[in-house]
Amino acid sequence: MLRSALIGVLCAAIYSISAVGSPPLLHATAGSRLPDTAPPDAFAAGLDQAFRQFQTFARAKAEPASPLQINLIFHVLSGAGLEGNLSDAVLHDQLTVLNSAYASAGLHFNLSEVRRYPDSVYFLGGCFPTTEQGIQMKATLAVDPAHVVNIYFCKLDLPFIAGYGTLPNEFAENDPQHGVIVDYGTLPGSAAPLDMGHTLVHELGHYFGLLHTFQGGCVEPGDSVDDTPAEASPAYGCQLGRDSCTQAGVDPVDNFMDYSDDRCTDKFTALQATRMHASIAAYRPSLAAAAFSIGPGMTGNWFDPNQSGHGFSIEVLPGNVLLADWYVFAPNGGATWIVASGPITGNTAVLQAFQKTGTGGRFPPNFNPAQLQNLAWGTLTFTFSDCNSGQASWQPVVAGYASGSMNITRLTLPAGLSCP
Ligand SMILES: [Zn+2]
Repeated sequence: MLRSALIGVLCAAIYSISAVGSPPLLHATAGSRLPDTAPPDAFAAGLDQAFRQFQTFARAKAEPASPLQINLIFHVLSGAGLEGNLSDAVLHDQLTVLNSAYASAGLHFNLSEVRRYPDSVYFLGGCFPTTEQGIQMKATLAVDPAHVVNIYFCKLDLPFIAGYGTLPNEFAENDPQHGVIVDYGTLPGSAAPLDMGHTLVHELGHYFGLLHTFQGGCVEPGDSVDDTPAEASPAYGCQLGRDSCTQAGVDPVDNFMDYSDDRCTDKFTALQATRMHASIAAYRPSLAAAAFSIGPGMTGNWFDPNQSGHGFSIEVLPGNVLLADWYVFAPNGGATWIVASGPITGNTAVLQAFQKTGTGGRFPPNFNPAQLQNLAWGTLTFTFSDCNSGQASWQPVVAGYASGSMNITRLTLPAGLSCP
């Protein structure tokens, strides 16, 4: 849902874009947090039903003792002059903010990959989720949507729209339209009031099934979370102590799911945490399955079933390092030799790839290491969902090579190894 004042329009619009003929009604004022839609009633009702079922479970069952590990991918879109090309340091800060915000909710995020798209056609309006271009963006760029949370940074329409997050029951698990979009001007270090990275915290709350604290106004069940007091309308700025409904409790304006300024929000409640875990279990169980980790048993040969003969040799080395050899030909048809290695993080490894060039690699007796050069080729990323399947993606820096990805399947498992 968009963090804007567009009540109830955007998510539904995903399904019928043609029905959205005019700009949404924005009643936000500059400098306030606004931005995103209230949930479409149909999806909200479905979520509530799932949540009620889960509330009957023991809390311990809904929430594991150790945090649930969730993999994220950051898609960094930028425009002319690299506007919006967020630095690695800012992305790291945002990740830290997320992990701090969600620690009490028992969720922990691992950044599996950062992809950058300079001068992207989607940077401006295309990033907006209700447009055809926005839908196309996710259809084109999403990576393994069942197992990874796809997060897009681009230019929305600040101060009117800061972000957008889908609800977990809007789409099938592997649908590329799952995802979160936030304006690049909402990350830590941006201008106040959206200066602490809480926009992404909020949108991920929707992604995991939370509604706004002011959902339904003073009418029960409100946001269907019993420990967030009823709230008549969005709170802007930092109206601590506001009490807009007759029910018990002051408005939860310090909750991440209200519209208060970043400086004002710092909490999820215990039942919001339960609801997120319940939503994941009900609608997005594969997100939790992403906790699969690469171990020695991933060693072997892997190939793309759609391109038989095309694949990788992978070895898991001591020190949690993955080594890969890529068997492929260069764009000009000549043989090429790409070797990559890099650290393993959970189910993902981001490898620095090198291309062997020069005349030294010739068949004996002409092999001459002194005439063999290592050309930095780009990055090669492996993400595995289990012992037998995964995805390889690459971002070359060498001219003539295009970035891309392919699904890979195990071909061989060396004798003496087992997986997991
Ligand atoms: Zn929202």
